[in-house]
Amino acid sequence: MTIPILHDPAALRAWRDAARRAGETVGFVPTMGALHEGHLSLVRASRAAAARTIASIFVNPLQFGPSEDFDKYPRDLARDVALLATAGTDALFAPERESLYPRGFSTYVVQEGTTDALCGATRPGHFRGVTTVVTKLFNLVEPDVAFFGQKDAQQAAIVRRMARDLSMRVDVRIEPTVREPDGLAMSSRNLYLAPEERRQATVLSRALARASDAFDSGERRASAIAGAAERVVREADRARVDYVSVVDPSTIRPLETVSSRALVAIAVFFGKTRLIDNALLPSGSPLSCLGAPE
Ligand code: AMP
Repeated sequence: MTIPILHDPAALRAWRDAARRAGETVGFVPTMGALHEGHLSLVRASRAAAARTIASIFVNPLQFGPSEDFDKYPRDLARDVALLATAGTDALFAPERESLYPRGFSTYVVQEGTTDALCGATRPGHFRGVTTVVTKLFNLVEPDVAFFGQKDAQQAAIVRRMARDLSMRVDVRIEPTVREPDGLAMSSRNLYLAPEERRQATVLSRALARASDAFDSGERRASAIAGAAERVVREADRARVDYVSVVDPSTIRPLETVSSRALVAIAVFFGKTRLIDNALLPSGSPLSCLGAPE
């Protein structure tokens, strides 16, 4: 089984125009490849919501810092195409770097406020890369609806806010995090973990469960909720905490007290591998509170 692979923007536009002529809606799933069930759950959500589903694979150099893993990020196009085809994706957009960033490229999309905390603090410029490439992809694909994972909650909140702030004609939806049987959030970066690190990586989801327990027991001080989670992470001797934070799910600003909803977000290094995970409080809060209008 295979699907059309569109390598250049002209081919993508032809595909998009054909969908429009057929009067069919388009759902879009942007990815960086090295696909897993988390990505495929977005494809399935898109198939349920739109007549045609297109995914993209582009390892976006603009969102990687100079000392990050751009060069060694896992790439296996043949495997990814087979997975996308099996999941029922109708087409794949896999552009070359030069077609998205031609020589002399100098225009960026920047969101203020939401991008300073959490991953934005550790990875300066990361979200500028994300908002810029997602804008470009939205301009090219012109999707009716686009799907992002809760796994990257800050990113999802930022993209939803961007679409609203810039009057983009796309419905941005967020789907729940897909996990391994032991609770570890699926991630392309899990491939980097050594066996002992992989064993210890369950501390992230266990720490989030502890934060939820603290909240359910009536704790409302953000520092106490974060502290309870951080103590769990510190039980893993290979883990180095980057952040454990309790923020507002709409603005991604740190909270002192949880009065209504909160996002507990965790980033942990195992060696050079950085893993992230998050949970909403109270658990079961709708994912649409991420990046929601204030
Ligand atoms: P990436 O390829 O890592 O850039 O991810 C592409 C999309 O898949 C993003 O919207 C991610 O949030 C989403 N995603 C990644 N991992 C998961 C997961 N475990 N569950 C749900 N969505 C995910």
